[in-house]
Amino acid sequence: MIRTLTGAGMLALMLAHVPAGAALAHGSGDHAHDHDHDHGDVTLFRLFVGDHAEGRVTVIDLGEPENRWSFEVTGQPKLFPVAGGTVVAAVQSDDDAVHFLASGISFQDHGDHADISISDPAAVEASLTGPRPFHLVDHDGKIVINYDRGGYAEVLDGAALARGEVAPRRFAQARAHHGFVAPLGGSWLSTVASDEEVPADASVPRLGLQAFDAEGNATGELATCTAIHGEAFSGAYLAAGCREGVLTATAGPDGPQFRMLDYPADLPQDVTTGTILGSNAIQMFLGNHGPDGVVVIDPVDEPHFTRIALPFRRVDFALDPARPAHAFVLTEDGSLHRINMLSAEIEQSSRVTEPYSMDGHWSDPRPRIALAGDEVVITDPNAGLVRRIATADLSDRGTIEVEGMPYNIAVVGGSGVVH
Ligand code: ZN
Ligand code: ZN
Repeated sequence: MIRTLTGAGMLALMLAHVPAGAALAHGSGDHAHDHDHDHGDVTLFRLFVGDHAEGRVTVIDLGEPENRWSFEVTGQPKLFPVAGGTVVAAVQSDDDAVHFLASGISFQDHGDHADISISDPAAVEASLTGPRPFHLVDHDGKIVINYDRGGYAEVLDGAALARGEVAPRRFAQARAHHGFVAPLGGSWLSTVASDEEVPADASVPRLGLQAFDAEGNATGELATCTAIHGEAFSGAYLAAGCREGVLTATAGPDGPQFRMLDYPADLPQDVTTGTILGSNAIQMFLGNHGPDGVVVIDPVDEPHFTRIALPFRRVDFALDPARPAHAFVLTEDGSLHRINMLSAEIEQSSRVTEPYSMDGHWSDPRPRIALAGDEVVITDPNAGLVRRIATADLSDRGTIEVEGMPYNIAVVGGSGVVH
């Protein structure tokens, strides 16, 4: 029983936490369906934790961690909630596979409240295979996976995926590269690679972003964005990092409109942004900026960039969907920092794990963070734990043991009414 949820519905839900859902529901004259009076508010966040070494996803209900399930996949999974959180995609870049798990949590928007329906998580039978699937974009009801060694992306319909259907449509690119494809308005944007020859083990240089039709025919000029990487959406904007600055794109009457936001002269030079997160409630982005900084990006108003220096190198960062001014950054000393993106200040810091040095390989086991309501959940691979930290004061809410080496993490869920 999987139902889809509109982005707006999810947002309202996450922001409001449906505090008076039951009372509102019965005070509302236009409520569309029959209610019995035996119901209540339910909050459930479900953690999807990928192992660092094994092809395994452990699913845990945050409030009742004895409710847990284990799913086998081919290799180390990176996990993405998609289709309004009804599905979690497990992208296994090193093993040429993408599996999908039905999250077992879905919401139905009733305007003044949302109903939550809960069942066990389950593996979706169909999966995808292809040469090095990597970046995944979930936007405008489409889920797009780029195959870095295939020279194409595959597009899934989010509503169909939520029903368990995996019927990809192929979007062809001129040359295989580590890039992304995203829908914008009626167009498709794809990263474009250079056609220069490179050694077999070298990465293909990336030139920028270009608009195409659904069949992969160019419909506009290439917008330069050297080494483009790290796409995110917020409001009307797509943003991606480049050597020159941050490229933004919006849908216009004649196709996508591009604008390069140059890195300002007062920021540290020779430092670029290559990972960007987009807020779902304020038209604003947060990007990395060098190993020990993050940068708040306003796509419309000056200053477009506001840098926040971190005391140590950054391990991972995440935005708080329920309190959109807030972001959380974990640094290699094991400290979690709450950042206010509007004031560009570190509001509070607290030690939450042992240090995890950023020396060594980028994919060594280190913590990953995600938001689950009023908690930050943090994988601690060396300790075999998920740590729970309160967003409000960074206090310790306890730990959850996870078999193996917990690494990548995704969270679905929220609050809803059960009638
Ligand atoms: Zn209802
Ligand atoms: Zn990448």
